Amino acid sequence: MSHPSLPMEGGCRCGQVRLKISAPPLLTMACHCTGCQKMSASAFSLSAAIPSEGFEVTQGEPVIGGMHGPSRHYFCPHCKSWMFTRPEGIDFFVNLRPTMLDDSSWFTPYIETFTSEMLPWAATGAVHSFETFPAFDQYEGLTQGYAEQGAPATR
Ligand SMILES: [Zn+2]
Ligand SMILES: [Zn+2]
Repeated sequence: MSHPSLPMEGGCRCGQVRLKISAPPLLTMACHCTGCQKMSASAFSLSAAIPSEGFEVTQGEPVIGGMHGPSRHYFCPHCKSWMFTRPEGIDFFVNLRPTMLDDSSWFTPYIETFTSEMLPWAATGAVHSFETFPAFDQYEGLTQGYAEQGAPATR
């Protein structure tokens, strides 16, 4: 698999909000939960956990949407694309929707979550599947496994 080198740029559907990542993902995910089904208007959402210091909004002002709760879901104010999420109580990474990137062809989900709510036909090719979320102490091993498999710009 060929990966584009960092930094990578991206933006929303209309282009008013642009962003840049300069660090490889810690982990990549697909989430089958019914909340993600609604917010993505699709069978599942995709996430790339980008270290916060390697994530930058370079143009435009994303607004909070989704549940307006402790986890903050950021959208383009004009085209309403769901662009990224800052998870509740976690500052060191941002969950970017990887299809915002100008080139997301490198992306594959390493884990999938909430298979308990999955549409019966939905297949993601993820290496590890979880009925809900992994236990908190499983993340270290998962991020190691993902790094060994090869995140962008590490090969
Ligand atoms: Zn937009
Ligand atoms: Zn979800």
